[in-house]
This record gives sequence, structure tokens and C-alpha cells, in this order.
Amino acid sequence: MTTNIAESLNLMLTDEREYPVSYLFNLIARKFGQKFRERHVFVDSTNNKFVPCAKNILRDNKSMNDSLYVTNANGGLNRFTVFDNGVTAKVNLLDRSCFCRKYDLVKMSCKHVMAALRAKYGDGEGYGNSICLYSSSIYKVETYLLTYFEVVNVVPPEFEWTVP
Ligand SMILES: [Zn+2]
Repeated sequence: MTTNIAESLNLMLTDEREYPVSYLFNLIARKFGQKFRERHVFVDSTNNKFVPCAKNILRDNKSMNDSLYVTNANGGLNRFTVFDNGVTAKVNLLDRSCFCRKYDLVKMSCKHVMAALRAKYGDGEGYGNSICLYSSSIYKVETYLLTYFEVVNVVPPEFEWTVP
């Protein structure tokens, strides 16, 4: 297993390189279909709101916000100032932005947004729900399952093609 996707694909198709192109395409479609089904079962079997990778990042951000100090000097419920080791981050929950720009770019609650959400909703269930609410739906299990719900069609053999 490697992190380079081209090397991974080459490794998957080592034996099949000598076969005709149509066979290769069918094999690729079949192998990817198998991988998608395995991943679908894995993600569906977990009882989480977020896919495993996003869940880990959110968990880390959540644990890091314990050391942050939060104020909302304006008294509003959507604008917070978060103090983090000499760095001051302004969080605007209404605009869904944070001074660190991580939240703006990946739309996943950074540690500053987590601290602001905890200041707004407290430590209870509302806080957990707000993390889900303020993170993009692209990281949620439902979206993942819907994205890969479609079937990968295998190319039929050439003699079965209907050419007008
Ligand atoms: Zn931030």
C-alpha cells in the first residue's frame, strides 16, 4: 500500500497490463466497483455523523479548544474573539468564517470555531449538534453514501455494442 494514487493503481493492474484495452477498462470498473462497495459497507456500518477522516479531524479540533479563551465583547451570539497562545482569532458564526482561514477554506469547524460554539451552546447536546450544523455536509456519512450510491457500469464486450 502506498499513498501515491498512480503507484497504487499500477500495483492493482500489474498482471493485466498485457491484456486488450477493453478488458483493462472492464477490470478497472469492476475493481473500483468492489472498492466502492467495501467502503460503502464500512462507512454505513459506523454509527457516526461524519466520515472517519473528518471525524478524526473534528475530534482533534475539539480537544484542542479546551485551552482557548473566548469572549464576545459585542454581546452578540455570532461574533466571538478567541485567544490562542498569543494569536487572536475572530470567529463569525453567521458568515461562517474564522481569522485562521481554515474554517473558511475547508468548511470544517477549526479549534477556534469549536471554542466559539462551546461558548454559545454550552457543553451539552446543543454543542455537539452545532458542530454538525456548522460543518459542511460534504463530510457527513449521508452525503458520502449518496455520492457513491450510483453503480459503476462495466463496458460490455465489443460484439454486444449497438452502433447506429
Ligand atoms: Zn480558526
